[in-house]
Amino acid sequence: MAESLSCPYCNSSANLLFRTTDINRRLSTEQFSYYCCTICELIFLHPIPTNLGDYYPNSYYAIPDSLEALRKQAEPQRYKIDRIRQYVLTGRLLEIGPAYGLFVSLAKDAGFTVDAIEMDERSCHFLHEVVGVNAVQHDNPAEALKNMGMYDVIALYQVIEHLPNPWETLNAIVEHLAPGGIIVIAAPNPDSLQLSIFGSRWTHIDAPRHLQLIPVDLLAQVMFQSKFNLVFKTTSDADSAGWNSFGWCWSFANLTTHTVLKKVLFTLGRVITKIMQPIERSRVRGSTYTIVFQRPHVK
Ligand SMILES: [Zn+2]
Repeated sequence: MAESLSCPYCNSSANLLFRTTDINRRLSTEQFSYYCCTICELIFLHPIPTNLGDYYPNSYYAIPDSLEALRKQAEPQRYKIDRIRQYVLTGRLLEIGPAYGLFVSLAKDAGFTVDAIEMDERSCHFLHEVVGVNAVQHDNPAEALKNMGMYDVIALYQVIEHLPNPWETLNAIVEHLAPGGIIVIAAPNPDSLQLSIFGSRWTHIDAPRHLQLIPVDLLAQVMFQSKFNLVFKTTSDADSAGWNSFGWCWSFANLTTHTVLKKVLFTLGRVITKIMQPIERSRVRGSTYTIVFQRPHVK
């Protein structure tokens, strides 16, 4: 196993950060190596397993029974629509990796014309038949976008970290955003307090499903080169707060396989969530971030 190799983004030297296993789902005992770039601080998995699909079992997508059940589940995410409407009131919206469509169902109900790119076949069927949105089944968003039009909003919620080619995907997104259009990205935060505490045991590493953890500053730099402005950044919106709690509870619980001890550690995670909340909020050190970039309007 190499102790250092080249960063897939900037080609600088990257050092081995840690090795870990599929702690969250325990689908194998295989060891996975994560590296951190000495220059851009990108964290990435290398090598990416050739059988990556095996780590996404059907249970990964808990598709609801009906549209009503989906709507009930989606309701807490309504604030995402309000956030988007601060920048774009209506128009064409694309979500990459919506799974079975909590967010896209809200976007459709809010009047956006909605498309989706999703790799899971069952989710695509549900999106098309039940939610009623155009769903393109593809595991490479950059490729899928070649046959799609221009958008006012492109959203990736907890998806960019799963992509083998995030940089190619970002380039394709830039090509498909209209003037004034926005890209919304929510992803695990490599600058989080939880990563600095748990390291390889952090639940949001989610080996081997999370392939690259991208620092906010690096994304901002990349999007700035394409003339996009960073207009919003948080690690403490409703989703982030939920992922903070998830991170504390499961990172503790996953320290053991003993059933009773697991429950005790999970409860401890809930207590720690409350204690750490002010630090995670005040220093942008929450476990996930949401950022919005906007293409300037044509003058
Ligand atoms: Zn780098």
